Amino acid sequence: MSAFMVDQLVAKHGLLMAVRGVSFSLEKGEILAIVGANGAGKTTLFRSLSGVHPVDSGRITLNGEDITAWPAHQRVRSGLAMVPEGRRLFVDMTVRENLQIAAENGRSGDWVLDKVVAALPVLEPILNQVAGGLSGGQRQAVAIARALMCNPSVLLLDEVSLGLSPIAVEGLYQSLEQLKKSKVTSMIIVEQDLKRAIQFSDHLLCLLEGRVALSGCSHELTHKAITQAYFGLEAEETENA
Ligand code: ATP
Repeated sequence: MSAFMVDQLVAKHGLLMAVRGVSFSLEKGEILAIVGANGAGKTTLFRSLSGVHPVDSGRITLNGEDITAWPAHQRVRSGLAMVPEGRRLFVDMTVRENLQIAAENGRSGDWVLDKVVAALPVLEPILNQVAGGLSGGQRQAVAIARALMCNPSVLLLDEVSLGLSPIAVEGLYQSLEQLKKSKVTSMIIVEQDLKRAIQFSDHLLCLLEGRVALSGCSHELTHKAITQAYFGLEAEETENA
């Protein structure tokens, strides 16, 4: 049984079909990278998966259970957590308090405060600091930690490196590599940096105008094939470019 399965998902903004029949599945501990140009439908897909945007048709299954009609909070309790683009922490609270609140709203499991701090060591010196005073990289690490405190079996990461300095991005991906090694939590990650998306993931899916233009094993897909799918180019066009 797949940890997460999406079957022919359709999501709209009014009459505009932003996600057009997207399907994929993910096993426990696997990582899927979703790439695509601006407006390709990545955010709408993520919002539909996490339950904050309505699904028009199709099916989402989490650990064998059909969650398509479930509200967001019920999905979190069942093991689906999202790290949204832009982070959204409680800025007046300390990092520790932010994490404790998340634990109360998620499901119980192995990811308790000590274990999360061990997996993301960057948190240790800032646990008692107010979240509003943190750097972008630190805030993003707290956002990931907060999602982990919900004990997700599937973690959705939407452009986690957006707006961070190259050093902060490096630190963040080192933390994510540690999570990856644990092979417990499946991750779906939207990443604009193609090279990083390929390196970090097991599978890659490229969206173009709401459709899956390309999908496969990240290490088997060529950079050229991904670029073609990304821009919707025919093979000859890229050869002549
Ligand atoms: P980006 O990388 O720019 O965030 P994206 O791949 O996440 O893009 P979406 O934001 O999901 O793509 O947008 C998919 C389509 O839906 C686009 O055509 C976009 O213009 C449209 N869209 C997105 N949000 C809305 C909205 N709130 N109302 C109407 N149309 C929207």
